[in-house]
This record gives sequence, structure tokens and C-alpha cells, in this order.
Amino acid sequence: MKVDRPQFSSFEPPLRTLMGPGPSDVPPRVLQAMARPTIGHLDPEFVRMMEELKQLLRYVFQTTNEITFPVSGPGSVGMEACFVNLVEPGDKVIVCRNGAFGGRMVENVVRTRGVPVVVEDDWGAPVSIGKVEVALAANPDARILAFVQAETSTGALSDPDPLVALAHEHGCLTIVDTVTALGGVPVKVDAWQIDAVYAGSQKCLSCPPGLAPVSFNERAMEKATTRKSPCQSWFMDLNLLLGYWSSSTRTYHHTAPVNALYGLHEALLMLQEEGLEAAWARHLRNHRALVAGFEAIGLTMFVAEPHRLPQLNMVVVPEGVDEAAVRGRLLAEFDLEVGAGLGALAGKVWRVGLMGYAARPENVVKCLRAFSEVLGDAGVDVAGHEAEKAAQAVLQAG
Ligand SMILES: *Cc1c(COP(=O)(O)O)cnc(C)c1O
Repeated sequence: MKVDRPQFSSFEPPLRTLMGPGPSDVPPRVLQAMARPTIGHLDPEFVRMMEELKQLLRYVFQTTNEITFPVSGPGSVGMEACFVNLVEPGDKVIVCRNGAFGGRMVENVVRTRGVPVVVEDDWGAPVSIGKVEVALAANPDARILAFVQAETSTGALSDPDPLVALAHEHGCLTIVDTVTALGGVPVKVDAWQIDAVYAGSQKCLSCPPGLAPVSFNERAMEKATTRKSPCQSWFMDLNLLLGYWSSSTRTYHHTAPVNALYGLHEALLMLQEEGLEAAWARHLRNHRALVAGFEAIGLTMFVAEPHRLPQLNMVVVPEGVDEAAVRGRLLAEFDLEVGAGLGALAGKVWRVGLMGYAARPENVVKCLRAFSEVLGDAGVDVAGHEAEKAAQAVLQAG
């Protein structure tokens, strides 16, 4: 067999600033941790690190749930892990769909042979508490309510607290997607009594993609361990996975991604050193500065102010501007990655992320400078560095 000569003698990625919907910028400290020597995934020293990693995850999820650990795989695997373990064939699941990720939850229910009842909200709007209440009342046999806290496809934030309370009043368990929420806005698993929750390493935790923190409370574990039919997925069956992740057993299930876990441990240490509240405040401050900058040059935000995600900013593409061409120039000339709109929003918005390590004043300024230059060439009036000045004013005010 003939093999083409490799294009790269070794792959050296370009240095980008990642301000899209994920992955986000990874701090050098996390990358350095990941470059340390690989050891066995059952090595006693590794096991000590795993225990601390679980403890750090409990802190970021604000929970005392014993069953809190990272599943090996991206956020989508965290999503599947929740659905395959908690949904049994025939279970009715109320799913809130106000964006692309709510749509994926519906897919998960269908594939686990549950029966989805979909509560629709407009893209850009939060999940409607009133509609969920109507759906719960109309479906007394529903077993689970599922929704996305931070919809990365639309930039809208929903309030989990009243939604989870309503679900419990109607005897439902809850599955909450906090992939983009975790680390960027408050996620309070115990205070809100969320039953099952999943996240991803590469958004506001500032780690490379590939790990999905999850947490299950006792009610969720009871459902997962007493179900009549076995979980369809061997890999994600909690009953088997916990043989590895429980402190009492620690037997081989699959080979854990050792170096990726060093990275998550380091990223969580950094978050703990900063403090969660300080991290939430940092996301908000940089978001306000970014929005002030965009508004100063006449751009508008897609999501109404009270529901905006600080970590994912949906900027409306001005009339007559070619969305993809702007994104292309930002990447080619400024090494700046921002996201495109998904689905019906394709071509209509940019998704500008301020996730984790990317939520810094220098990124806000770099982004506004780059946009101003490219949009100026596209005919938008960006006179006199107004975007940057407006952002600096917000940052200096604290
Ligand atoms: C990114 C994301 C996911 C999926 O995570 P992957 O790591 O891409 O699999 C799920 N839900 C939301 C809200 C997300 O933003």
C-alpha cells in the first residue's frame, strides 16, 4: 500500500484566540499539566488525584452528591449518560426545546425508547415556566423533566430553580444540561435540588474537550439502580462505571484518559483558587464590556437583556454584511475564532464566546478591535475606536 508522505513532520497548531461556542482558550498551566508523564489509571497516586478531582467537581456543581465524576467523552456523552441511565422504555419525558441542544435531548429520549413531550420556546427566549407547568399538569404520568440551562445555540439563560421545583411538585426527576453554564454562571445543584446534571470540560472550565462532568443525587441513583430493563449502553451504564469511579471498588471498566484528567484537575484547581463567585463576576464584567463595545458601533444583541448569557454573546449581523466573510477574515488576519449561527440563525448572528480563560479584558479588546476593522471595511460606521473606548469604560468602572 502506498502512503502519501505526511504533510506535517509534526503538527504545530496556529496560536488562536478562541471566542466561539467552545472549545475556549486553555490556560498554559492546564496544557502543561496534561504534558506530564502518563501513569497507570489504577496507580494509587492517580487514584488520589481522582478523589480530589471528584471533590473539586462537587465544589463547582455546588453539591455534596457522592456520585459526581467526569465521564470519558465530550459533553454529548454526558448528555447520553443521563438519558440512558434515567429513561426506561415507555417513560414519558417532558423536554424543553428552545434551541439546538434541547432538540438533541428529544433525540436522546426517542433513542432510549422513552416518550417525549416537547415544550417549545422561541430561539433566544428562556424556557417558559408557565408552559412547563401546563405540560406537567397535562401529563401526570411524566417521569422526567429535561432542559438546558445555558442554550449555546441561542445565547439564552433559563432559571433552573423554579423549573426543578415544579417538576418535583409533579413527581418528576430532572435532567439539566449545564455544559455551557458550569463555571460561567451560578449552577447550584443542591440548592436547586437538580437530580441529574452534566457538563463539558471545554466551555467555561477552560480545559480541552473530551470530558463530561456529571452528578447524580440519591433519587436519580435509585432510578438508575432499580430500573427494570438494563441500561442499553454498556459504556455509560452507571452501575458498571461506578466500579471504577467509586472510592470503594476501583476496578477496571475502561482505560481512563489519564492525561486529560490531569488537565481537568488543574483547571478545577484554578477555578477553586479564583473562587466560583469571582469567576461568575468576571464573566459578567467582561460580557458587559463586550456588549457596550458592540453597541457603541451600532450592533445589536439577539437576546433580550435579562436573559443573556455572559459567556455566549449573540451579535446580530448588520444588514448587507456577509457573516461568513467577516468570520473568515477574523480568523485569517487576527487568529480570532468566533462562532456562526446554527439552524435558522445561520448567516444572521455571530456567537462570541467569553468562556473561562477567554473571559478576560485583553480578549474583549482584541475582539472589538478586530471586529471594528473588518466591519469598517464592510461599510459599517466604526468611527474613532468607539467600541474599544466603550468597553474600556465598563472595565475601568469595575
Ligand atoms: C457544547 C454543548 C453540548 C455538547 O458538548 P460536546 O462537548 O460538543 O459534545 C451540549 N449542550 C450544550 C448546551 C452545549 O453548549
